Amino acid sequence: MGDRKAELAANLAAVEERLAAACAAAGRPREDVTLVAVTKTFPASDVRILADLGVRHIGENRDQDAAPKAEACADLDLTWHFVGALQTNKARSVAGYADWVHSVDRDRLVAALGKAARRAGRTLRCLIEVRLGEGEERAGAAPADVPRLADLAASTEGLTLGGVMGIAPLGGSPDPAFASLAEVAERLRADHPGASAISAGMSADLESAVRYGATHVRIGTALLGIRPPNR
Ligand SMILES: *Cc1c(COP(=O)(O)O)cnc(C)c1O
Repeated sequence: MGDRKAELAANLAAVEERLAAACAAAGRPREDVTLVAVTKTFPASDVRILADLGVRHIGENRDQDAAPKAEACADLDLTWHFVGALQTNKARSVAGYADWVHSVDRDRLVAALGKAARRAGRTLRCLIEVRLGEGEERAGAAPADVPRLADLAASTEGLTLGGVMGIAPLGGSPDPAFASLAEVAERLRADHPGASAISAGMSADLESAVRYGATHVRIGTALLGIRPPNR
């Protein structure tokens, strides 16, 4: 085994251990939670190693990096998740490789993704990103806007509504943020029973996210190591 493969295998084993413990503590089966490996800033060769180790879900947050990486890994049976802020002019490119978009936060983006998906002959599973914590500048749609945005995504040809995504604010316990995300998700499911995904939890807070019902955790650092400091 190469050095990098051994490193990623050890990291993956540690993350799997944390996930198993978090699921056990929450009384949830491990299969309820999908591990999305966020490979941003890391090369396609790492994606290949992770795929070799059994990881099937890959997350990226910048189209410029994600598009060539997805192309370089097109021979692998992977599901690609776009998790970052998305400009409408990137929708067409993202629709070419992504299966999921976790960061749907405004009407114009829903329209752009729908159009791009139809043009590509693909279906994009959309998660509504919910703003958690104080501050208008934080990413995501205000919780009050989620039902309307969700209805729009659900009724847009080319898109399916998958559920919600949230990022807990830095500092302090993530529990209140993930608790309110769980409430938004529950209300959404009342209108859209199929929209059951809750994308929550990163390297630092996956345990809390799993406790509050996360179905998808997005793990970068704990799997791949420290990123260069520019993102
Ligand atoms: C980078 C990123 C992650 C992974 O974060 P880590 O703390 O490195 O695990 C998860 N979600 C989004 C939206 C990200 O941009």
